Amino acid sequence: MNIFKKIYCRIFQTIFRVAIPFLPYREPQILENTNDVIKTLKKNNIKSVLLVTDKSIRNLGLTHELENSIQNNEIHLVIYDDVLPNPTIKMVEKGLEIYNKNDCDGIIAFGGGSVMDCAKVVLARKVKPNKSVKKMKGLLKIRKKLPPLLAVPTTAGTGSETTLAAVITDDETHFKYPINDFSLIPHYAVLDYKNTLDLPKNITASTGMDALTHAIEAYIGRSTTKKTRKMAEEAVKIIVNNIKIVYDEPHNKDARENMLKASYYAGVAFTISYVGYVHAIAHSLGGQYGVPHGLANAIVLPLVLKVYGKTIYKKLGKLAKISHIASENDSDEIACKNFIDYIIELNKYFNFPNYIDEIKEEDIDLLASKAEREANPLYPVPKLMNKKQLEKIYFMLLKKNEEEA
Ligand SMILES: [Zn+2]
Repeated sequence: MNIFKKIYCRIFQTIFRVAIPFLPYREPQILENTNDVIKTLKKNNIKSVLLVTDKSIRNLGLTHELENSIQNNEIHLVIYDDVLPNPTIKMVEKGLEIYNKNDCDGIIAFGGGSVMDCAKVVLARKVKPNKSVKKMKGLLKIRKKLPPLLAVPTTAGTGSETTLAAVITDDETHFKYPINDFSLIPHYAVLDYKNTLDLPKNITASTGMDALTHAIEAYIGRSTTKKTRKMAEEAVKIIVNNIKIVYDEPHNKDARENMLKASYYAGVAFTISYVGYVHAIAHSLGGQYGVPHGLANAIVLPLVLKVYGKTIYKKLGKLAKISHIASENDSDEIACKNFIDYIIELNKYFNFPNYIDEIKEEDIDLLASKAEREANPLYPVPKLMNKKQLEKIYFMLLKKNEEEA
């Protein structure tokens, strides 16, 4: 990247870092049990509630108890269960139409990141009826309080229940982009591990890797605070101690509870300290080919960390030491390398490939420009990269590398 662009990016990031104490960050109120949802709906005087979810969650029966108790308490229940992974503008508009038609006055988002993100943007469109989803892209385009939003995560990964971000895909251009606004932080987060017990193994692994990526990217970036460093450290320690357990023993309650906590901590960390190129690349792959977000992150993470090189020795080395992936006496360089090897080993454990099957060589130019546009100048990454440098990472992700190896 040329020096002028670098200076521009770093000044932009410094302004945001200096502004952190003055910005209206908040955390959702935590509810530990799904049964507390009814009390909360009543407290907020909600007469008609939209339950945003997806078909597989409903088919698993996860929402049944809640649906019954809403109806038994004479609150009008409307269900929108057509959200799919990588939610699109069309899905948001459909949700809004149902919300308006039924005079809803709040949303319960019951699901993974896609469901929560879709619900956030439905409410953003509700309070900004004249602003299209496309126009909400980027930073602080909503700036208006949303009706009550209760987030009930069913995966331990996205952290969307606490973040100010919602990631939406444009149906036509396949551009997948984050919308960031303080008003998108849910008012309530229901951290009930029981909702995660039936999560399939591969999703348990990929969403767990998403949470790990949030914690790492927030921590190695240049806009951390004392609080976000602490949150990210805690998240990494918990994930390292629990991710294989939840994968091997899906019904291990303690491990599930711990992962949900870690995912939340990582969410708090990156909502203030941002993510980095791993996410920008993962979003481009999700938008273009529908690659699941957590899986894309897991595969891209070690490659980007290697490219960051010595700029992250100290910070990633520290994460390795506090989570006992490296010993106290190891040099920062060795500890950092140990952490990257650990991630590669985890990916193998989960049977994740080390390439992205869907990438076509001719798409790399477009993919890299999308990632570049998302990350620069916003993400305070440890080492700035331009489009050409990002392209190299996509080439490393091609399947043919695997075949040649
Ligand atoms: Zn993520």
